[in-house]
Amino acid sequence: MKTRKVPLRTCVACQAKRPKRELVRIVRTPQGELVLDRRGKVSGRGAYVCNRKQCVAEAVKSRRLERALEVDLTEAMVDALYRDVEGAPDGDMA
Ligand SMILES: [Zn+2]
Repeated sequence: MKTRKVPLRTCVACQAKRPKRELVRIVRTPQGELVLDRRGKVSGRGAYVCNRKQCVAEAVKSRRLERALEVDLTEAMVDALYRDVEGAPDGDMA
């Protein structure tokens, strides 16, 4: 078996390409629900943000997440996002 490349996804905030595990995936399910998807298993329209506050803040403020997902972010969703990246390093991960 050949070694497979790590799949890269683009952060909607800083546009950096990172391995999926370094990003938070937000999914709009076919039911129109927004969920945080840590395992990349939820089906639906997804968008990715780096696992750091800076990018979450930028993605929310710039509305890039909403544009990517074509849905309004709820306060609960924004809270969940911030909670998810709490404790993550503030600076650049590279
Ligand atoms: Zn980012």
